Amino acid sequence: MARRKYVVGNWKMNGLSAAVADAQAIFAAAADHGGVDVAICPPFTLIGALVAAAPGAAVGGQDCHSAASGAFTGSVAAPMLADAGATLVIVGHSERREGCGESDADVRAKAEAALAARLAVILCVGEPHEVRESGGAIDYVLAQIAGSVPDDFAADRLAIAYEPIWAIGTGLVPTVADVAAMHGAIRGALAVRFGGAAQDMRILYGGSVNGDNAAELLDAGDVDGALVGGASLTAAKFVPIVAAAAAL
Ligand code: PEP
Repeated sequence: MARRKYVVGNWKMNGLSAAVADAQAIFAAAADHGGVDVAICPPFTLIGALVAAAPGAAVGGQDCHSAASGAFTGSVAAPMLADAGATLVIVGHSERREGCGESDADVRAKAEAALAARLAVILCVGEPHEVRESGGAIDYVLAQIAGSVPDDFAADRLAIAYEPIWAIGTGLVPTVADVAAMHGAIRGALAVRFGGAAQDMRILYGGSVNGDNAAELLDAGDVDGALVGGASLTAAKFVPIVAAAAAL
């Protein structure tokens, strides 16, 4: 199975009702670029509005709880995301691993909950700057993969997003060679664990992707798409990234 490119916008804690028009513009423009899967993960509060405004478009959550329901004030469960019309969810973003103290085991439990709710999963991994500087980035990320990727899922239901923490929102980007080396190492580790199914799993790059650098990053070995933060907030910035993916 050839892996289709996958470009996902992570709006983080950005977007009021007026942003629904931006999502509509993004999905409309993305529809002109065949061969690429496009998704937007808005704040929880906008999921229903985006689903209603863009029927059939892929809308996702940015996190979910590992329990299906219960006394967890402020949290959102995977079945709730699915009930709101979401078809995917991001888990293990570094802003949650670092800011909310989420461990690999927590991330794995969230991924398992999401899969049980029939959501596709984008599972994030990535090293801090000091680990990259020390030469330990690949070992660090492979340990995250070992600890946070569930054992049982269909290959097209779980994508890995490699997001070096120091590249997120900073304008800093690893070299294309470093991205390719990391993605190759991730693919290799997935192959050891899952055999041939690893060839069907998508591995996205995330961290300061924009319309200028998308083409070369997306063309790197074993890069199957991009997880995009800041440049996903408007059609003017996001659509060129989708177009770059479609052109490959
Ligand atoms: C992200 O937060 O997932 C991300 C990649 O952000 P940015 O594109 O802004 O670096």
